[in-house]
Amino acid sequence: MKFDAVVIGGGITGLGIALGWARAGQKVQLIEERKLGAGTSANSHRIIHGGFRFLPKLKLGLATESAVCLSQLLNLYPEQVIPINCFLPLRDSGFKFTWPLSVGCQLYNHTVRRLALLKGKGVFSGAQVVGKDQLREPILESLSPLMRWSDGYLVDHFGLIRRLKEEFQSFSGVVDEESRVISVRQMDRKQDGIVVRYESADLNGEIGERENLARLAFIAIGRSLSQASLELIDFSPFKELAPRWCQAVNLVFRSEKSIDFGLAGKLADGRLLFVGPRPEGFALGTAYWAEGETSKQDFEIERFLEQGAELFPQFDISQANLARVELGQLPIKDWLSEGQPAFLDETTFQVIDNALIHVIATKYTTFLSTADRAGKLGRRLLS
Ligand SMILES: Cc1cc2nc3c(=O)[nH]c(=O)nc-3n(C[C@H](O)[C@H](O)[C@H](O)COP(=O)(O)OP(=O)(O)OC[C@H]3O[C@@H](n4cnc5c(N)ncnc54)[C@H](O)[C@@H]3O)c2cc1C
Repeated sequence: MKFDAVVIGGGITGLGIALGWARAGQKVQLIEERKLGAGTSANSHRIIHGGFRFLPKLKLGLATESAVCLSQLLNLYPEQVIPINCFLPLRDSGFKFTWPLSVGCQLYNHTVRRLALLKGKGVFSGAQVVGKDQLREPILESLSPLMRWSDGYLVDHFGLIRRLKEEFQSFSGVVDEESRVISVRQMDRKQDGIVVRYESADLNGEIGERENLARLAFIAIGRSLSQASLELIDFSPFKELAPRWCQAVNLVFRSEKSIDFGLAGKLADGRLLFVGPRPEGFALGTAYWAEGETSKQDFEIERFLEQGAELFPQFDISQANLARVELGQLPIKDWLSEGQPAFLDETTFQVIDNALIHVIATKYTTFLSTADRAGKLGRRLLS
């Protein structure tokens, strides 16, 4: 089989890239070991960051990119992504005065938001510091003053994946689910192509080996994929590029009372703890530990439960109500001395031998712009 491009890894990043390329008229194949979206993408906390969280670090580019992506998603997939109000209590967050935050909110409303609206037409309600009398949710009153901003909420993860898959197939994209890539090899340098070998389950129900030729391959990376990538035959530089990973977790709780807002709290060690809505109640995210430290898992979850219950006593955060533990992996830069991971904030692209593009994205939010940038990079390599 011959393709213009083969995308390896069908999480939100790979699916976005495959769709972007197919839409541009390329013949594209997407290979996914499990079902599409079954990896880390299934376990996101489901917040589509509108960019506000990047402002304190003065990452204006990332803030604008996120705001644009959010507004595009609200427009394109209104059944799957809805606006959500998010709150941060100010009293215990180390803010003596609220006026610098009010100024920051105005700055955001007038610049980032305006830029995003220009490109996307999304609906943002803006950001502001709010007091008790302006709060509609009684559960939040005891926490005021709060800072309020608007993000997106992914209500239907598999619905979004299904929509993207259908769109991809409508542009003649080929999806191979339950097919595991075992190697990627460059052909003769003079020839324009690479070979992707994979085991496919759809050969009369048997596991069989297949081989594809492609002019370009994208590895849209998840953790297991980075392990598999070590088996890549001829791309030895790849080994040095393998990212470090940490385990990340959301705890999902059953509750009679469902919430329709997000609430962030600051822990003593500076970590943000976030409560978000879920159909069965609410979810608490996110705790981390370094990959490989499996012995730390129970300890970290226990600690996370205790910290959550202490910070937000108005929610019933207890072991008895714990419905589910959602586990995923995130690529990291470093592990800081305060016990926190430092994440890669922005999507990274690494080009290997002008034929393979290795993409790592740490946010669900920006998959549309990741697809766009990957597409431009791919076209440049092929021209
Ligand atoms: C607990 C948690 C909470 C998060 N919360 C948020 C949030 O609120 N907002 C946000 O924007 N982001 C959030 N994120 C980050 C976001 O979920 C991820 O950045 C994103 O889902 C990564 O998508 P991906 O496609 O790169 O990886 P994945 O979804 O992991 O996709 C990689 C795919 O590759 C496949 N694969 C692996 N090896 C092979 C092989 N050899 N052959 C074929 N296929 C293979 C895997 O099966 C997998 O489906 C969170 C992450 C975690 C873990």
